[in-house]
Amino acid sequence: MYQFKGTPANHFELPDRIDRLGKLAYNLWWTWRPDAQRLFKWIDEYLWEETYHNPVLFLRKVRRIDLNAVLHDRNFMASYDEVIRDFDHYMENSDSWFHNTYASHENRLIAYFSTEFGLHETLPIYAGGLGVLSGDHAKEASDLGLPFVGVGFFYTRGYFSQHITDDGWQQANEVHMSFEDLPVLPVLEEDESPMTVSVELPGRTVLARIWEVQVGRIPLYLLDSNVEGNSESDRRLTARLYSSDLDLRISQEIILGIGGVRALEQLGFDPDVWHMNEGHSAFLSLERARKFVTEGKTFVQAVELIRNSTVFTTHTPVPAGNDEFPLWLIDKYFSEMWPSLGLEREAFIDLARHQVSWGETFSMPVLAIRMAEAINGVSELHGQVARRMWQFLWPEKKVQEVPITHITNGVHTGTWLARRMGVLYDEHLPSGWRTQLDDPDIWEDVLQIPDEALWDVRLHLKRKLVAYMRERARQQWLNDSIHPVQVVAAGSLIDPYMLTIGFARRFATYKRAGLILQDFDRLLEMVNKPNRPVQIIFAGKAHPADEPGKLLIQEVYRKVKKAETGGRLVFLEDYDMNLARYLVQGVDVWLNTPRRPNEASGTSGQKAALNGVLNFSILDGWWREGYNGKNGWAIGQDKEYDDPNLQDAEDLSSMYDILEKEIIPMYYDQLTGDNMSVEWVRKIKECIRTLAPRFSMSRMVKEYTESLYIPVMETAEKAQGKKKGSVKQKS
Ligand SMILES: *Cc1c(COP(=O)(O)O)cnc(C)c1O
Repeated sequence: MYQFKGTPANHFELPDRIDRLGKLAYNLWWTWRPDAQRLFKWIDEYLWEETYHNPVLFLRKVRRIDLNAVLHDRNFMASYDEVIRDFDHYMENSDSWFHNTYASHENRLIAYFSTEFGLHETLPIYAGGLGVLSGDHAKEASDLGLPFVGVGFFYTRGYFSQHITDDGWQQANEVHMSFEDLPVLPVLEEDESPMTVSVELPGRTVLARIWEVQVGRIPLYLLDSNVEGNSESDRRLTARLYSSDLDLRISQEIILGIGGVRALEQLGFDPDVWHMNEGHSAFLSLERARKFVTEGKTFVQAVELIRNSTVFTTHTPVPAGNDEFPLWLIDKYFSEMWPSLGLEREAFIDLARHQVSWGETFSMPVLAIRMAEAINGVSELHGQVARRMWQFLWPEKKVQEVPITHITNGVHTGTWLARRMGVLYDEHLPSGWRTQLDDPDIWEDVLQIPDEALWDVRLHLKRKLVAYMRERARQQWLNDSIHPVQVVAAGSLIDPYMLTIGFARRFATYKRAGLILQDFDRLLEMVNKPNRPVQIIFAGKAHPADEPGKLLIQEVYRKVKKAETGGRLVFLEDYDMNLARYLVQGVDVWLNTPRRPNEASGTSGQKAALNGVLNFSILDGWWREGYNGKNGWAIGQDKEYDDPNLQDAEDLSSMYDILEKEIIPMYYDQLTGDNMSVEWVRKIKECIRTLAPRFSMSRMVKEYTESLYIPVMETAEKAQGKKKGSVKQKS
């Protein structure tokens, strides 16, 4: 197990008896332990909400009198002791899956690079699915006991918070984060000065600080260029995610890739496996090559060593979505570097040359593919698409022989499962289910849960969502004097007992958020049917530079606001992990309508399934593998289209037909005395039983370990003839 390097900035003044809360606050373990979160809520529920579930800020602000009060509450103290006992036991790491399966590889190390990490709403350093996947991957690596460190960015201005104007236009409000308020620790040198790494950018050297986030047993290191000594503009380099400014983007990717390698070295880590989650971090291979060449290897030998130890996961089935740079920019940023690799300009460009419609580019995924031995897409269909997309890199191979495999995404169960559902599973699944999440046999016992008990929890979660929406609408009405129609559009008329559909994700146009609104009259008829109405909740952000995405939000919002919807359509602003939890736990049906095959995997539907929310989706990404005819509904066919208009039309009609003929009748017809549809509950059980194990992050990280990390460790070992002692860290 790794020693954490960060040093707490805060010394909370806590009563001795509960002073372990201070340490707990700094380990994101609490983000997937509802019982740990409940301790803070117990002390002061309002403050817990006001600090947006941030225990560090909470402990700084909490009143001594409230702390003293819980000392005398026997239930609180019992719960506190149990949580701390669990935490200590967890951190000991003596009985993890990795330990029990791969003990001889425990002194190896996997370094995982990602440009965003979605760990919790309190740390908005993620934009969407890619980030949440990285965060979930890190948490599961901790649960399974993998020797693992993460590398990413501490974007101090975060990803924006979203406000929708009366006219439906997205306003991006900047977030300001300060580490003192967050579960983020500064890594310090021995003399207590901040530890930094430096990278060369044109005409200057830029410093980046290293921050540490403790994710259970594993450390995540975040880089941040807001350092004294950098110029004002360099201090802002890492302030935000995904700038459309090319200089800024390439600088960020240099800091992540090159700075990241240097940071790990400085921290005393010597990884055996380098996992690039998406191509943004692919420059890491250049820094590793530079080191090998400095040590006397040729560039070709260096590439061989790097390939043997590198894993690349691609997530982008849309060619235009790939991260690439014009060649003049590469000249500007790398002409100083290529001599140190022993390369001329053309040979350097060749590493990532990509012919696109307007000329040649330097493509980050091409670089990543060239530098990785193990390459994977994130669902079966996406694997096929990726093999087709990158086949030109293997001109001698047929598409099906292109060495890109797939591992389908999953979600971190502890993070996304509602507490009350967890309690229900505690009562009916075999004990120990929480550590065997990917075992399908365990989940067979979902069939034993009494219908009424399951439906009770489902209703509880719906009421919780509705109460939350109403409170948010009330706050907006109170604080921001929004127009009364916006109070309705924010969900104040939603009824917790009516069929409720959720659609929440990034507003990228291929996700077709507006599809269900296309035949608006037909939809309104369903929405307003007396006794059996349909409610639809939308949420999602568009990238601030994505004009079509913002126009799509506006189109949806304008329709939501129309009086004819009777308040049954809703748009919730500021979609983030907090709102995502409410939605994937609280609606009845999770709708997803991407234009196939553009959804590489998708994960929000997996979060929904875990909580007994039924998927109603296009057969794209993970759902094409998850759907079995009985555990949800499929929109459209398992087929490809050449004509997107025909595809939209067919998907639309399939969606309305299923909604009218299957979903609505199943929900409302043949209700029992408790207003429960037995058929619906049966479907919920089928959904949980078949999907919860298979689309768990536990299954996913085990697959990465078995089919990528361990083989890579073994190849690297052979290639380098390297033997490692039992002590992992140099320092
Ligand atoms: C899970 C999640 C996503 C990814 O959702 P998809 O529907 O798979 O695109 C995006 N944003 C947030 C906040 C999430 O929690």
